[in-house]
Amino acid sequence: MNQNDATKRVEELRQLLEKYGYHYYVLDDPLVPDAEYDEKMQELIWLEEEFPELKQSDSPTVRIGGKPLDAFEKVQHTIPMMSLGNAFNEQDIYDFDRRVRQAAGDDVQYTCELKIDGLAVSLTYENGRFVRGATRGDGTTGEDITKNLQTVGSIPLRLSQPVDIEVRGEVFMPKRSFEKLNAAKEDAGEALFANPRNAAAGSLRQLDPKVAAKRNLDIFLYSIADVDGADIQTHYGAISYMKELGFKTNPNTQHCPGAEEVIEYINSWIDRRNDLSYEIDGIVIKVDRLHQQEELGFTAKSPRWAIAYKFPAEEKVTTLTGITLSV
Ligand code: NAD
Repeated sequence: MNQNDATKRVEELRQLLEKYGYHYYVLDDPLVPDAEYDEKMQELIWLEEEFPELKQSDSPTVRIGGKPLDAFEKVQHTIPMMSLGNAFNEQDIYDFDRRVRQAAGDDVQYTCELKIDGLAVSLTYENGRFVRGATRGDGTTGEDITKNLQTVGSIPLRLSQPVDIEVRGEVFMPKRSFEKLNAAKEDAGEALFANPRNAAAGSLRQLDPKVAAKRNLDIFLYSIADVDGADIQTHYGAISYMKELGFKTNPNTQHCPGAEEVIEYINSWIDRRNDLSYEIDGIVIKVDRLHQQEELGFTAKSPRWAIAYKFPAEEKVTTLTGITLSV
């Protein structure tokens, strides 16, 4: 591809991705399937690598999420809420493992988690009491949705210990609740939600907390952003501590000593994902030791110590090695 064609295509992709992002993040009403968005994003990443002079600081490849809605009070995230780098096949996992070992040494272990397809939220507790909940927004500024989150039954309003802590997790709508909600909407002649992710996001970003209260939302917490006075050395340890405090964490999280075990874990979920009562869109792989996470640090958009393996569109699914052939 020559420079002229690349310039045209980059502009075209940026405009498309911005439009898709606005409908997905701001309106909770996607125009295209996630796989189509991901394909276009990968193409833009590739073009910006091949033609670095075309890369701009506000490209969708470096921006996180969408602008917060003006209808909500804004919350500044003291610790940014970032995105995750993506892996689509076995080779991407080995490449990630190699980058991690180059930077953090050979003695690396991973924690693998289900990638819950919902809306990222941050929950702040002071003295063990829930005081604020926010969306990710654009990563630095989110929306204050405390009142809506107070209606989610699995979010504890008071913890088992009087700690100051900020945790992060994913609010989701179970598949059955989503089906019931859309059936009721259909009966009422209202527009349907595209999928449980958008239903969860749309329910949480309502101004009237009574709406969220009726939507049967649920949550899994998956990380501690900040905590006072706890000695935590590993990500797995952080999850155990959250459980101890009374947070709901996902029971399928697994410790994996190396890349082979990570791939086994992914393959086992490709077969089983449809058995879950909630939707997942991939697997998140995180370096387990927190001091190694610190050494690895962050890019502008995502941590270098984690990656999200994305499931391909359902019809392409066989095994991880099979996917390598189909992308
Ligand atoms: P991402 O979905 O690739 O990953 C980051 C998010 O994963 C986190 O913010 C968190 O919300 C979530 N997550 C779930 N389980 C987690 C766990 N166990 N640990 C850590 N995080 C976990 O990145 P993104 O920036 O949120 O969104 C990009 C994705 O959204 C795209 O890849 C695409 O699939 C989708 N999208 C779709 C459209 C569309 O038009 N269909 C538009 C924009 C984005």
